[in-house]
Amino acid sequence: MNGTRQRSEQEARDFTVVGQAATPVMRRFVDGLARVFRDHGYAQVEPYPGVHLVFNLIDAAAARPYHRHAQATYVVSVAEAPEPPEDVLLAAYPLMIRSLSNLFLYVVPEGEEVRVYFITLERGYYPIRSSFEEPARFFAELFERLEPLASSHLVINNVFDPDLPEHLWDGDEHMDEMRRASRKLGDLNLNPAPFPLEKLLPESDFRHVQRLYQIGGLSYGNLSVRRTEDDFWMSASGVDKTNIRQVGRDALLVKGYREEDDAIHLSVPPVVSPRRVSVDAIEHWMIYRENPQVGAVLHVHAWIPGIDATEINYPCGTLEIAQAVAEKVRTAPDPRHTIVGLKNHGMTITGESLDEIFERIEGKVVRQVPML
Ligand SMILES: [Zn+2]
Repeated sequence: MNGTRQRSEQEARDFTVVGQAATPVMRRFVDGLARVFRDHGYAQVEPYPGVHLVFNLIDAAAARPYHRHAQATYVVSVAEAPEPPEDVLLAAYPLMIRSLSNLFLYVVPEGEEVRVYFITLERGYYPIRSSFEEPARFFAELFERLEPLASSHLVINNVFDPDLPEHLWDGDEHMDEMRRASRKLGDLNLNPAPFPLEKLLPESDFRHVQRLYQIGGLSYGNLSVRRTEDDFWMSASGVDKTNIRQVGRDALLVKGYREEDDAIHLSVPPVVSPRRVSVDAIEHWMIYRENPQVGAVLHVHAWIPGIDATEINYPCGTLEIAQAVAEKVRTAPDPRHTIVGLKNHGMTITGESLDEIFERIEGKVVRQVPML
């Protein structure tokens, strides 16, 4: 489907557990977690470089990173909160970053009960609703929410071709539309500031993350404008989306996704050392390709009450989120004017132009995404 790579269902999946479960609650939690994955056909193995899934048990007071050897290794760190935090996200997000995780599970004792929160890189967080006292249900729910994320496929390879025609080096009228829209994002206060990874991570860990994912910071949201039938301008990764200016640095021309190298291909000016394109380029590409009448796409971590949403909250930049969103757009009554909710994450909005999108959503957007 869509000419994109599909994960082979036969591929054997494995996981490993690193670190110590230091308390009875953690031991019970990790035993149950490992069992439910084994029951669903995952093999529990000793750590090795290509392992699919790592449960990294850490001490909330001293978050120890797990250094992946491959992008495809999905790291779930788990810590027990010393006491119920006032603000779960504020307490847990820095631990997630320091432990270099894809996902963080915060185990919070609440009186006789234990509540487990999922913390995502998109700064979403939500509790498991089943009770720890009913282990079968509890661990079944945990597996159901965790497994699709752990087995999702990130499309983060970029191939830069220095073939952008000179008359586009400073942009065109579509790039001007990007610049205008980016200021508007700032005016509406719709884009949280990029998250300062370098402030939370020791230098060696920061370099490790950069090497592995080629990212400089975590930023949220992205925008794009179609240029021709075959290409579109899109915001770069890790930049301030409220201040888009330079071609190749703040925004790039996306030619498309190629299955052969599992990469997004970009056309850049030969004079610029380019930044990477936003991780959601695969999603925007699918939408443009399937819907020739769509002229612009905006993705923000905010919400409009009452919108239709996807079922599973796949991470930004995965093939799975791209397919889920593209399907919602394709099957909408009017693909050119859709607002797709991404569960526990944000919205992707299509339009004739970015100006038209802003006109349509102005006054309706709330900053807080509902957590389900
Ligand atoms: Zn997002």
